[in-house]
Order: sequence, then C-alpha cells, then structure tokens
Amino acid sequence: MSHDAVQKTFPPSEEFTANARYGAELLEEGRDAEAFWAKTARDVLTWDTDFTQTLDWSDAPFARWFVGGKLNAAYNALDRHVEAGNGDRVAIYFEGEPGDTRTYTYADLTREVKKAANAFASLGVSQGDRVAVYLPMIPEAVITMLACARLGAVHSVVFGGFSPDALRQRVDDAEAKLVVTADGSYRRGQPTRLKPTVDQALEREGHTVQNVVVVKRNGEPVEFVEGRDVWWEDVVGSASEEHEAKAFDAENPLFILYTSGTTGKPKGILHTTGGYLTQGAQTFRATFDLKPETDVFWCTADVGWVTGHSYVAYAPLVNGATQVMYEGTPNTPHEGRWWEIVEKYKVSILYTAPTAIRTFMKWGEDIPAKYDLSSLRLLGSVGESINPEAWLWYHRVIGAGRCPIVDTWWQTETGAQMLTPLPSVHALKPGSAQQPVPGVEIDVVDELGDPLPNGQAGFLVIRKPWPSMLRGIWGDPERFKSTYWSRFEGMYFAGDGAKRDEDGDIWLLGRVDDVMNVSGHRLSSTEIESALVGHPYVAEAAVIGASDETTGEAVVAFVMLQEAGEQAVRDGEDVQATLRAHVGKEIGPIAKPRNVLVTPELPKTRSGKIMRRLLKDVAEGREVGDTMTLADPGVMRQIAEDMRNSS
Ligand code: ATP
Ligand code: MG
Repeated sequence: MSHDAVQKTFPPSEEFTANARYGAELLEEGRDAEAFWAKTARDVLTWDTDFTQTLDWSDAPFARWFVGGKLNAAYNALDRHVEAGNGDRVAIYFEGEPGDTRTYTYADLTREVKKAANAFASLGVSQGDRVAVYLPMIPEAVITMLACARLGAVHSVVFGGFSPDALRQRVDDAEAKLVVTADGSYRRGQPTRLKPTVDQALEREGHTVQNVVVVKRNGEPVEFVEGRDVWWEDVVGSASEEHEAKAFDAENPLFILYTSGTTGKPKGILHTTGGYLTQGAQTFRATFDLKPETDVFWCTADVGWVTGHSYVAYAPLVNGATQVMYEGTPNTPHEGRWWEIVEKYKVSILYTAPTAIRTFMKWGEDIPAKYDLSSLRLLGSVGESINPEAWLWYHRVIGAGRCPIVDTWWQTETGAQMLTPLPSVHALKPGSAQQPVPGVEIDVVDELGDPLPNGQAGFLVIRKPWPSMLRGIWGDPERFKSTYWSRFEGMYFAGDGAKRDEDGDIWLLGRVDDVMNVSGHRLSSTEIESALVGHPYVAEAAVIGASDETTGEAVVAFVMLQEAGEQAVRDGEDVQATLRAHVGKEIGPIAKPRNVLVTPELPKTRSGKIMRRLLKDVAEGREVGDTMTLADPGVMRQIAEDMRNSS
C-alpha cells in the first residue's frame, strides 16, 4: 500500500529551528544510548545519591536503571523549583467544569503536597504501600500522586468513570491500603458522584483498605463509614506544612497503572522512579520544545491514563513548567470551551488525542474560529494514529498553519514517548510518528524477528531497554515475559503493526490483532480508516477484518457520518457504495470493504480509543467480549442490532 494521498511534508520554519531548545545534535547524542541516558538523568533530575551504573540488564527482561542512585520524585517535581527561586511561578491553572478556577504556584503546590504526605502518613501509609486514587480531574489528583511519591508509596490511579467492579478489581490486585476519592465531580453541567462507587466497591468483605479520604468537590451527599472514611479537608487541612522528602532508590516503585483495555483485559503496569522520571522529563522538553519561563502547556488527558501520569502529573512539574488542568467535557457549556480555555490562559503547547480532533472537525471550524488561538505555538497528538485528514485540519484550523504537530507514539508500558518527530529537525508528515526519540532504538521486523526493508509492513519492536520501560506486570512476572518478551528473542514486542516509508519514517498500522488478511493481502485497519475519514461524508471510521468464506477475511467498516454524509443519505444516495468505491480508489480494490455500516457512534474506551475487538465480535456474530473499560456500553447494543438488521 502507498501513502500517495499524503505527499505533503512540513519542514520546520527557520524561526522555529533557530529558537528551539534542541536541534540535530540531540539525535547525534542519542546514538550512544547508555551514555545519553546517564547524562540526561543527571541533567533533568536532582539526585540525592548519584548512581554508579546506568543500566543493569543482567536479569533481562527485568531492568534496573541508574543503579545505586537515590532521589525523591516529589522533591524533583516541587521543592527544588522553590529552592531555585521559582516558587512564584504558576504550576497549575485549574479550570473546573462549572467555571470555578484555582491557581497553584510551585510554592503552593509544594505546601499542599507536604500536607497531604503528612496526612497520608498519619493514616499509616509508608514506603511501598499502595494507594488507590479514584478522583476526577482536579488538583487533588496530582497532589495525591505526588504525596504518595513523596512517601515512597505506590499510587494506582483508577479512572474516575469506572464501575465499582473495575475499581474493586484494581484495589484487590494492588492490595491498596488507602483509597483517595471525592464526593463527585461535574460532567456535562451535572454533578456526578464518586463516593457511592467506592462504597459499593468496598461493600464486600475481604479487601485491604483501611481508610478512605474524601475530597469535597461538588457537595453531593455522601455516606461515611465510621472509622474508615475521613474528609480531605480535615485530615489534610489540619496537617503540618513541614515535610522532608526522603530519598528512595531509583528503582523504588512509583505507580501501577492499568492499560486501556483496547485489546483485552487490562494489565497492571508497574513503573519505578529514576528511569521513568528521566525519560518523561527529557521527552517533554525536547518533543514540546519547552521553555519553562514562558510556555503554558495543556495536556487534555485524564490522570486516569498514562498520558495524564507522564505529561500532567510528572514531566511538566519536573521541568518547572506551567500547565492548565481542566475538569470537564469539551462541549460544556458550549462547543467552544477548549478554545476559550486556550485563549484565557494563553496556552502555547496543546497535547491531545485524535478522537478529540475528529470530534472538533465534526462540530465545525467556525467554533474555534471565534477564539484567539494565537498563543499556540506547538501541537501534539497521542493515543491513536492521527488520520492525515485530521492532522491537516488540526494544523490549519487550530495551528493556523504555523504550529508544528508532534505525533507521539508510546504506551502505558513504555512510560514515555518513544516515537515522535523532533520539531526543530524533522519535516513533519501527517499521519506518521516518524522517528524514535534520542536514546531509543525501534525497528520493524518480520514474523521471524528479522528487520524489514523500507516499505514493508511488519511488527514494531524495541531493540534495547529504555529508562521509562515498565518493570513488570504487578504480581505477574510470567505474564510480563510472555506478553512482551517471548514473541521475539531479546526484543520488546509492542503489539502494533508498522512500516517504514522510503525515508525511513515509521507509520503505525494498527494493532497486530487488527491487521487483516484478505485473499493473502495484508491490510492495515489504520490506512483504510484514514482513507474513509478522508472522504467528506465521514467523521470517524473503524475498520476490522471479519472471517469470510471466500476471502479468508473481509474488510468491514463502521462509519459515523458528517453532515454532508447525512445529507447524501437523505438525498437517497447509496453512501455505502460511494465509500466502497472511495477506498478502492485510494488504496486499491482489495481494500474495498465488504460492508459499510453507518452507525451513530463508535465503541470507544473511556480514553477515547476505538475498540475494534468488540466490533469484530459483532461482525462475526459472537458474544461481545470484555466491555469493562468501554465509555458507553449502549453503543455496542445499538451496533449489534444495526448489524443484524443490515444482513
Ligand atoms: P490494552 O493494552 O489494554 O489493549 P491500549 O494498548 O489501548 O490497551 P494504552 O497503553 O493506553 O493501552 O495505549 C497504547 C497503544 O495506543 C499503542 O500500543 C498504540 O496502539 C496506540 N497509540 C498510542 N499513540 C499512538 C500514535 N501516536 N500512533 C498510533 N498509535 C498510537
Ligand atoms: Mg496495549
């Protein structure tokens, strides 16, 4: 398959390159990976005790980075900036959904984290204990994570929309001692409730939780379990502002976080301290060209996802950056809310997901046009492949044709960005994550693990250990080995399909599980979806391979229409035929979908990723699999019914 449709590249402007924090020399330095990471670790972090060995890989695949080093994560994110005289710099501009705001300087945030650390310690939390965090997108989420880090305790953030069962599973898996939650939050203008979910999750005996700390956010009524539950404002409010951060080993566990569940049952990924912070902090400053004195960063991800860990809670603060945190939905109280926030806080770097961009495209470009977005200077994307059509829209409408876009590929498991253009150096290609970050070695290999030449599709692998790599799956070392390290000898198997183009730039092709084999041709879900999204009728598309008697697998497409598509349907046009022909023209006759099903919604995880495995279940007439992390289970019922009616 070719990318002929996307020939255009976007070289960096002279001005951007001239003012950039890093240039091509960084790529050069990254070639000696261990030396690069050793230098970087000392550069981006303050160590209490310096490390004596950069990497110990003698017990592969269990890595130890920065052996002998000791540090405190919270000290690195907070105190040291205050000590350096930057206590008055804003760390977080918080914007609540109802419009309430709070500003935390580095001095404020340091004080709050010290108090929370004292409060948690008074509840018996100490090094190595696990703390489940079930909070909305409010500053207390970041404060809680950093307070745990300060104590050497391990946080396990559970997305605030998950069910009692999902929460309980995660509390049990980690054997959490403490749960930090809130009365609730706001969603689409309505107060929501969290505490009852915690109560339900802990109803059944046999859990390890001793206390529940409750933040008062929306004033919804809560029930208290005597002796177990305490208000944040009481226990943190009354705590001392003095707390000295103890240094912990570089490999002290920092957090457990479950993957999104896009391909199956979520895995409890374990990250540790020194390596995780090093790569997060370094990629943050390089990829986003951060200037901490002047930039205002906004990552729209929830702290319940890895992006919210690495690029909200840790990397921006370790770098002393100023960031925006927003609690609510993009269309409350109106569809311009995000752009209003960009204008209000003069956001200069925006990091978001393709699903959001496609939604804004659907809402129309006249909405962002009403706001002053001239503060923006760099845009980022993460979570899925960004369809070239969406990239171009993001670039033109949000970035005014002026802001580079960095498409960053990484995973919960990788802890930090792994593939991305370096915006001062690489000519950007819409839809490609392009190149490994300095110090990381990524390859595309065939079934046997042999490197593939440019142009051939295969498996994405990571050839060498990297600092922010997962250290394991919590409590399951065998699953860690079999999931990531058994497919190819000595290499990390990412589970994603990829290929290099003629320039050696990497294109992600979708999950390996989603690669289709139609009459002996391997087809990528991502490419067919991008072709569909490139048609003016289509807002979003999900493509899967369903077993087929004649072709082995057949391409089945699920599409959400834009207004133009809906109009065409009303005019009696055979939209399915139009879209089949379009894919045939863009990619080739073999890629033409057997069925195109128009649907009002697509099944997505709560982090906004399309759940193709569920669509495959429906298309093959199976019972729909695990929907625990699905945002709206109703969507699947609707699609299953539409599918039955269409056949
Ligand atoms: P699970 O592992 O439970 O199935 P998940 O893989 O969706 O869930 P995450 O760790 O949140 O969990 O997502 C990582 C995956 O997201 C990557 O493996 C890749 O498939 C996809 N991804 C992330 N960023 C990009 C990107 N820039 N381009 C293409 N794909 C991306
Ligand atoms: Mg995954």
